[in-house]
Amino acid sequence: MARKRILITGAAGFLGSHLCDRFIAEDFHVIAMDNLITGDLRNIEHLFKLENFEFYHHDVSKYVYIPGELHYILHFASPASPIDYLKIPIQTLKVGSLGTHNLLGLARHKNARMLIASTSEIYGDPSVNPQPEEYWGNVNTVGPRGVYDEAKRFQESITMAYHTFHGLETRIVRIFNTYGPRMRLNDGRVLPAFIGQAIRGEDLTVFGDGSQTRSFCYVDDLIEGIYRLLFSDYAYPVNIGNPSEITIKEFGEEIIKLTGTSQKMVYKDLPVDDPKQRRPDITKAREILNWEPKVSRAEGLKITYEYFKSLPKDVIEKVEHKDFASFNK
Ligand code: UDP
Repeated sequence: MARKRILITGAAGFLGSHLCDRFIAEDFHVIAMDNLITGDLRNIEHLFKLENFEFYHHDVSKYVYIPGELHYILHFASPASPIDYLKIPIQTLKVGSLGTHNLLGLARHKNARMLIASTSEIYGDPSVNPQPEEYWGNVNTVGPRGVYDEAKRFQESITMAYHTFHGLETRIVRIFNTYGPRMRLNDGRVLPAFIGQAIRGEDLTVFGDGSQTRSFCYVDDLIEGIYRLLFSDYAYPVNIGNPSEITIKEFGEEIIKLTGTSQKMVYKDLPVDDPKQRRPDITKAREILNWEPKVSRAEGLKITYEYFKSLPKDVIEKVEHKDFASFNK
């Protein structure tokens, strides 16, 4: 039987590259697309030799053309760390809005099912904890995170409109903080920031007093949840994340213990609109997808630390933004 063909945008990124691996392993024909602004071809170079893998260097904010049949589209192209969307705000807005529109048009033309990567950021700085899918969010449209949050909110709306108006098969995953190998060491996110600092023998930079919380999901768990959602028949948003919540200060202590660094935590200004709490309510994922995370933070962090340690020295030493807090004021 001919292989099913799937387009994965943002394929050279952290999540996109893991999705490529998963769909290759499931014997799909994978069409990978990335404009390489934040992605890195090293994440997928091991796939180039395969006959069921092809790569297009393309920006999905521009018209997207794919020859031949297409059965599925996964839209994972977008800057996804606060540092990135502060640096490239317009591209962030465009890929979530124009890019999504182009891909929905392609999905319609090809009669493909489309899954979009939404995010816990659509909940903004949430006033309820944990966040269920029914919570509408608390977002500052004109703050520094607004470009990402609003692009993702628009993305959900237009995807739902194509579903209701055109009858397109669509899926929406709301992704909470995820980590694992192939995260960029210098993307400014807390986990690579802390581990990178520990490896380089620097102090760990905690923003604010460290009492804000996050809930970290290991990448393999997330990919499994997305895989199940794609093949479910549920068109409304589903949270995928790990409900194990921790303060950033406690998280820093875990990293210090894991890495054995003799450095300490130092406190910096809290970035503007930094959410005070974040934890997914995964009741829907449990009930609809029979999914829940399996990898504990202790296991996942160990694997991720080994990955970061194995990177070339120049990658480990290269830090673009040491002081995110002051950058964000
Ligand atoms: N953070 C920190 N030190 C860092 C980077 C981030 O204390 O070097 C904090 C940040 O202020 C936020 C949390 O860690 O409260 C998670 O930040 P991240 O950028 O990883 O993702 P977010 O969940 O905010 O999108």
